Amino acid sequence: MTLRFFGGVEGEVGGNQILLQDGETRVLLDFGYNFSKWREYFSFPTSMPRSLDEYFEVGLLPSELRDEETGRISGGLEGCFITHAHTDHWRGISALASQEEGGPTVYLGETAHRILMMRGERLRGCDSISHLWFETFRTGRKIRLGELEVVPFHVDHSIPGAYALLIHTTRGLIVYTGDLRLHGSYSRKMRRQFWETLEEPVEALICEGTNVGEVHTVLTEGDVRRLGERYVRASSGLVLVNLSPLDVDRLRTFHRIAEATDRRLVATSYFMEYLRALEGERLRLPSPEKGEVLEYREGEQEELRRDPSSYILLTAFYRWREIQEVRPPPGSVFILSTSEPFEEEAEIEFRRLMNWLNIYGIQATQIHTSGHAFPEDLRRLVRLIEPKRLIPVHTAHPSSFGKLVSDILAEKQIEFIEPKRGQTYEI
Ligand SMILES: [Zn+2]
Repeated sequence: MTLRFFGGVEGEVGGNQILLQDGETRVLLDFGYNFSKWREYFSFPTSMPRSLDEYFEVGLLPSELRDEETGRISGGLEGCFITHAHTDHWRGISALASQEEGGPTVYLGETAHRILMMRGERLRGCDSISHLWFETFRTGRKIRLGELEVVPFHVDHSIPGAYALLIHTTRGLIVYTGDLRLHGSYSRKMRRQFWETLEEPVEALICEGTNVGEVHTVLTEGDVRRLGERYVRASSGLVLVNLSPLDVDRLRTFHRIAEATDRRLVATSYFMEYLRALEGERLRLPSPEKGEVLEYREGEQEELRRDPSSYILLTAFYRWREIQEVRPPPGSVFILSTSEPFEEEAEIEFRRLMNWLNIYGIQATQIHTSGHAFPEDLRRLVRLIEPKRLIPVHTAHPSSFGKLVSDILAEKQIEFIEPKRGQTYEI
């Protein structure tokens, strides 16, 4: 049995592309693009790639897996498993061959499938995913493919429908965490965590390490709620919140804050689209149908202007247009409830937003917790799972991950493998 890594390694946070082969059976574990790398060559919407060739050319897709005839990725793949719907874990699937061309079935959670279908409608040309065949799963389902049995298990992350994969191979059990955290509001409610169900030794643990070697907050989702509520209560004007519409924990948090502080949620149409797509998924989200969240319509902001202290306005991607339209009065506040911009382009956008906030004297603060496990939780996880091999992915500091757990590695005789791009690892 072998593992081969094409992305999400050598310091890349995101863009995981892992090939697992057992005998004749080959599957992909996630197939995303690393977006920092994407932006080095392309930009939205002016310089979009025109063909898959360009993706292969710049190294965002592995040429080793490309089929000469179709120009797509098939390579005898039986399945492609997507752990969750963050783009850095799935956007590369547009390059997969269709089933008619000998390409794999794409397996993913039901909620993730809904999100992909919604996003997929907007993807054009070489980014389109309409030629693919999808099969969905929920926790408990076992998927047999040749020599393999893949068991997806729900984990807590900053998006609904995230899974770890437990893969039974002829050489034993391989565990891939996907992205996960142990400090979210959902983490504590989960009846069982995947590491409590492992009945055989883990041959290899492929583990995310996003927060390793970075400055990370120690706030939990509960802390975000308490701090957020206190801050909103103290504001006498409009409260603006920047967050991701896919971070459903955070949406619930601000819904509860709105209830506790007698304010109503208003969201941009971009947000509403996600809320409508996820309605009925039993996620306990504020419902547009029931009027628990109102849609912000351009040019219809009189009510927000007249009575700003009765509202919380949700926005995404450092948007400033609504701020300019509403002209929030003194006493209004802005809450950044996402991570700080960590790329040049995002930094420029964020600066622009700050400039608009400063025009109106709106004060900004960050209240946020990470979607990824704290380093101390990763130590706990490695100790609990006690794998024979530990392979870090999705981290800017893979060596530091080894140092972080070096005492556990020595004590439990765990081999640490820092994966290199394209290299094959025999298990
Ligand atoms: Zn993620």
